[in-house]
Amino acid sequence: MTTFTAKEYLRYTRHIQLPHVGAQGQTTLKNAHALIIGCGGLGAPVSLYLAAAGIGTITVVDGDTVELSNLQRQITFVENDVGYNKAQRTQQRLQDLNSNITVHAITEHLDENNAPALITAASIILDCTDSFNARCLINETCRKFNKAWVYASLYQFSGQCAVFTPAGPCFNCLFSAPANNAPNCNVAGVLGTLPGLLGTLQANEALKYLLGLDGLLESKLLLIEASTMDFQTLAIHSNPDCSSCGTGASNPKKASDHPLPKINPTSPYGRQLSCDEIVALANSNHTQLIDVRSPQEHAAFNLGGLNIPLTLLESGEFSLKRDKPVMLYCQAGPRSEHACTLLIAQGFDAVYLKGGLAQTLATQT
Ligand SMILES: [Zn+2]
Repeated sequence: MTTFTAKEYLRYTRHIQLPHVGAQGQTTLKNAHALIIGCGGLGAPVSLYLAAAGIGTITVVDGDTVELSNLQRQITFVENDVGYNKAQRTQQRLQDLNSNITVHAITEHLDENNAPALITAASIILDCTDSFNARCLINETCRKFNKAWVYASLYQFSGQCAVFTPAGPCFNCLFSAPANNAPNCNVAGVLGTLPGLLGTLQANEALKYLLGLDGLLESKLLLIEASTMDFQTLAIHSNPDCSSCGTGASNPKKASDHPLPKINPTSPYGRQLSCDEIVALANSNHTQLIDVRSPQEHAAFNLGGLNIPLTLLESGEFSLKRDKPVMLYCQAGPRSEHACTLLIAQGFDAVYLKGGLAQTLATQT
């Protein structure tokens, strides 16, 4: 019996010729199901390569819509995709690339309700989120159902990648502390090619895992510094006290145990203001308008006011009047929310621009 149609055989010739894959390996890929959580910078190369490689079933998960600022790195999308759901547009892109495979789109974020069914149905899980809490949920659920997952994360010019299997140490062994204040690429910036590099590595490890090849990035963490092209591999060891896989596993930590820090709405204006409110108050001269982004971001575009980067606010290297409310803004909101928390704790009256410049500009263009 022939496993492949003539067209499939032609399509996958380069795999079938490869000693470590062959017709048997290609059949394994055809019978596999990859769950890709997140259709952004990492999800783009991951989904394109896995669809091209002939993974028979792919489920893509993302509740976000495509924004213009995504096109700098999220190469599945084109300008006409802006405003549409990322999972749906990715599904269409993958079907255009390979009509022999089945692609499912889940147009919501992964959460505690949908994670068990999605993860148990898959043969490999790829973390393409930029969320620590999502990774904790993926880790817990994969651990529970004996599934392997491929992790990657990015920060500016740096990236990390690892494969977590049921037999090896888990994500929580490596990162036991919640990284609530760790900025993601929405707020910290990222070189456009970096997710391409890391996502390609994730797809590579997923194929190796499914094919049972040696040399898997298991019990190891690959660190990449794209500015210097330094690649370093560190060994990861199981932590006996890990709350997910060690002796402390009877009391597992839930992702929701690490909510983002919230500030008290002490300002008479409320905590978050719209851009119109910010501009009106700034013009009233009774407030101080502060851009907490980097000088480079401020130079590229700003709403006016002083530029005091968040790092300077954190280190206390700033001078602000205590008798005037401080209005903060940044790219997406988290940095100015964090600055707002800091200033309120120091007795300032502070508010910040809701959704940052990204939301303001998106509604104006
Ligand atoms: Zn662990």
